[in-house]
Amino acid sequence: MRLAERAMGISPSPTLSIDAKAKQLKASGVKVISFGVGEPDFDTPEHIKEAAIAAIKAGDTRYTPVGGTLKLKEAIIDKLRRENGLEYQPNQIVVSTGAKQSLYNAFQVLCQPGDQVILPAPYWVTHLEQIKLAGAEPVIVQTRQENGFKLTAEELQAAITPKTRVFLLNSPSNPTGGVYQKDELAALGRVLLENNIAVISDEIYEKLMYDGLEHVSIASISPELKENTVVINGVSKAYAMTGWRIGYAAAPAPVAKAMTDLQSHATSNPTSISQAASVAALNGPQEPVQAMVLEFLKRRDYMLERLNAIPGVVCPRPNGAFYLYPNVSSYFGKTHRGQAVNNATDMANLLLEIAEVAVVPGIAFGGDDFIRLSYATSLENIKEGLDRIEKFLAELS
Ligand code: PMP
Repeated sequence: MRLAERAMGISPSPTLSIDAKAKQLKASGVKVISFGVGEPDFDTPEHIKEAAIAAIKAGDTRYTPVGGTLKLKEAIIDKLRRENGLEYQPNQIVVSTGAKQSLYNAFQVLCQPGDQVILPAPYWVTHLEQIKLAGAEPVIVQTRQENGFKLTAEELQAAITPKTRVFLLNSPSNPTGGVYQKDELAALGRVLLENNIAVISDEIYEKLMYDGLEHVSIASISPELKENTVVINGVSKAYAMTGWRIGYAAAPAPVAKAMTDLQSHATSNPTSISQAASVAALNGPQEPVQAMVLEFLKRRDYMLERLNAIPGVVCPRPNGAFYLYPNVSSYFGKTHRGQAVNNATDMANLLLEIAEVAVVPGIAFGGDDFIRLSYATSLENIKEGLDRIEKFLAELS
C-alpha cells in the first residue's frame, strides 16, 4: 500500500525511542527511574470517580451532542468566568477527546497550505506535528534561556510575514515551565492584533502554578484579543485525569462551529462517562488540586536545588507545569568510558544505559542543549534518580 505524503511527513516522537528502551529495561527487571512521564502520578480524586460510576448506573451511556453535554459546557463556562474572567456561550465551547484533539481541531479549521504558524521553541512536539498536519508551515522562533524561554513582542514581530495566520502560545509551557505575565501577554497581543494573527492558547497546565503567580489567559486581555483567540484547556493535568480524555476549546462561534463539524466526522462526542466525571471535577471541591500542587512544589524545589548544585548544570526555576529543563551542554565533548556525549540525545541514551534513568532529550522540543525531567514521580524516586545522575555526570571525563 502506498502511504499518503501527509502520513510520511509525520516525524516519530524522539521521546518514544527512549520510552521504548526504558520499558524494555523495566521488563527485564532493571529498576529504571523515569523522569520522562508527562502525567500526574496522583490518582483521580474520589468524588470524580464516583460521578463516573453514577453516570454509568444512570444510563448516561449513549451519544451526547458532538461538542459536549450542555451540563459540561455550562461547567466549563462557569469555570472560564470564575477563574479566567472570560464570558462564553454554549455555542462557543467544544468538548473533545483530550486537549490534544481540541488543538488538532483548532489547527485544522484555522490553517491551510500557504499559511505560516509561529511556534516558539522550546515547543511541545505535538504542536509542531499538528501544524504540519494542517498543511501549514511552522515558523520556529528560538526563545532565550535568560528570558525564561519566553518570546518577546519584538521577537514575535520579527518572525511575522504576510503569510502568518496563527501564533501558538503555551503558558505554562511544556517543556520549560515558563509562565507569561499579564504585561508580556498584552505586549504580544498588541503585535498579534496589529497583524491580524489568530492565537491558539494552550492553557492545559494552568492549575500547576507556583511562587504565587497567577495564570492569565491571553483572551482575557481585551475583547479584541478574545475575538482572535482559541483557548484550549482540559481536565487531564489539573485533576489527574489523563486517561479520561476530556479537553475543551473556547472560541468565537463560527470557529467553534467549524471545530464541532470537523469532530462530528472524526470522533463524534468524547466519552459520555468522562464528560459526567469532568462536570464533577470542574464544579466540585478543588482541595485535591491544591494538595497536588503543594506536592509538586516540594518536588520542584528539591530537584532544582540538587540539579543546580551539580557543577556545570544550569537549571532555570520554572513557575509552572511539572518539568525542569536544565542546560547540560557544558558536558558535551566528554566521554563515559569511551562513549561520547556530544549532545543531549547522547546524554539521554547513556543516562538510560548506564545510570538507568530516563530523561527526554531537548531535541524533542527543538534544542539539544537541554534535557527535560518530569517531577511527576515520588520524592523517593526523585532522590534516587538524582543520585544516579550526579554520579554519572561525575564520571564523565
Ligand atoms: N498540551 C500540552 C502542552 C501537553 O503537554 C499535553 C499533554 N502532554 C496536552 C496539551 C494534551 O493533553 P490531553 O491529555 O488533554 O490531551
